Amino acid sequence: MPTNAMSGLPEPAKDLWGRPLRSLRISVTDRCNLRCQYCMPEENYVWLPRETLLTFKEIVFLTELFSEHGVDRVRITGGEPLLRKDLASLIGMLQQNTRIQDIAMTTNGVLLAEHAQNLFDAGLHRITVSLDTLKPERFKALTRRDTLAQVFEGIESVGRVGFQGLKLDTVAMKGYNDDELIPLIEYGKRVNGEVRFIEYMDVGGANDWSAEKVLPRKQILALLSQYYGAIEPVHENSSAPAQRFRLSDGTIFGIIPSTTMPFCATCDRSRLTADGMWYLCLYAKSGLDLLKPIRERRSREDLVSMIRSVWETRKDRGAEERKELEASNGRGQFIDIERLRQDPHLEMHARGG
Ligand code: SF4
Repeated sequence: MPTNAMSGLPEPAKDLWGRPLRSLRISVTDRCNLRCQYCMPEENYVWLPRETLLTFKEIVFLTELFSEHGVDRVRITGGEPLLRKDLASLIGMLQQNTRIQDIAMTTNGVLLAEHAQNLFDAGLHRITVSLDTLKPERFKALTRRDTLAQVFEGIESVGRVGFQGLKLDTVAMKGYNDDELIPLIEYGKRVNGEVRFIEYMDVGGANDWSAEKVLPRKQILALLSQYYGAIEPVHENSSAPAQRFRLSDGTIFGIIPSTTMPFCATCDRSRLTADGMWYLCLYAKSGLDLLKPIRERRSREDLVSMIRSVWETRKDRGAEERKELEASNGRGQFIDIERLRQDPHLEMHARGG
C-alpha cells in the first residue's frame, strides 16, 4: 500500500467514490435514558449483551488502527454515551493518539452537568447536545422523561468548565417543534451554542417517520428569514454535514438537510457500534464484525487489511438511494419492526445516529 513520505504512514484509504476514511463515530453503549419517539419509542429493547461490549482498551486499539489509515476525527456517541461508566478515562486514552485532531461527543445532556468538568480535564474537545424543544411538557411527551431542566443545566455547564464550540442539534419536525426555531436560535445565543436543525430522517424502523413530518431546509430558511430578515450562506470547504448560515447580527446556525439534499458524495463517516460492528453508512443493513477477530487475537496486519479492503470497496450512498425512491412513491418504512427485534444493530440508537 502507498505510504506518505513525510509521516511514513499508509496513504488514507479511499472508497470507490474517492471518499477518504476520516471520521469515525464510536458508540460506547446502545442504552439511553430517554425514549424519544423518533429514535427509541419502545420502553424495552433487545440490548447488546454486556460481555460483547468493546472494552476501552479495545476501542483505543481499533481507533489506533483506523487512525493509521486516515481517521483523524472521532465522535463518541451512544445510545447515551454518558451512561457508559468512567467515560472520561476513555477520552483520556484516546487523547494520547496524536493523529486524532478532534474528539467530540454527542449527548442528550441529561447527565452532562455532573460529567462536564471530568470530560474537559480528560481532553474532550467539543460537545454537541441534542435539544428538540425548550418546552418541558413537549420534552416529556417526546422523550417520556421529565428531565429538560437537567438538560439545560448540562448545556450551561459546557461553557462554564471551559469548552468552546458547543453545538445544539434539533431534529426539526412539522407539527412538533416548527414553532420553536426562533426560540431555539435565541437560546443558542444565550448559551453560546450553534444551533443546527436536522431534517427528520427515515432511519431505523421503530420510528414514526413520514414525509409529511419532514420540515425541509427550504422551509426552515423561509421561517427564519420572516423573523430575522436576510440570511446569508457561509461559504466553506468542508465535508461536514451541516450547511451553515449567518443572520444579520452575525449569529451562525446550521441545517443538516439529510432528507431533501443528501450529502453522500462527500461522506467520510463510518460507525463503530459498542460491540465492535463497523458500519459504512447510516443506512447500511450489515457491517464488519471487528470484535470477533480482536478477541481471537488476530494479527494487526489481518485487522488492517480487513479495514482497508472494506473501505476500499465502499459505495454506500444510503440517503441518496432513499431519496430516489420518492419518484416511485416507494419511500416507506426502512426496516420492519420484526427485523428490528431480531437484530438490535439495525436500530439507530445502536449505531450512534
Ligand atoms: S446516508 Fe450513508 S453515505 Fe450518505 S451521508 Fe449518510 S452515512 Fe454517508
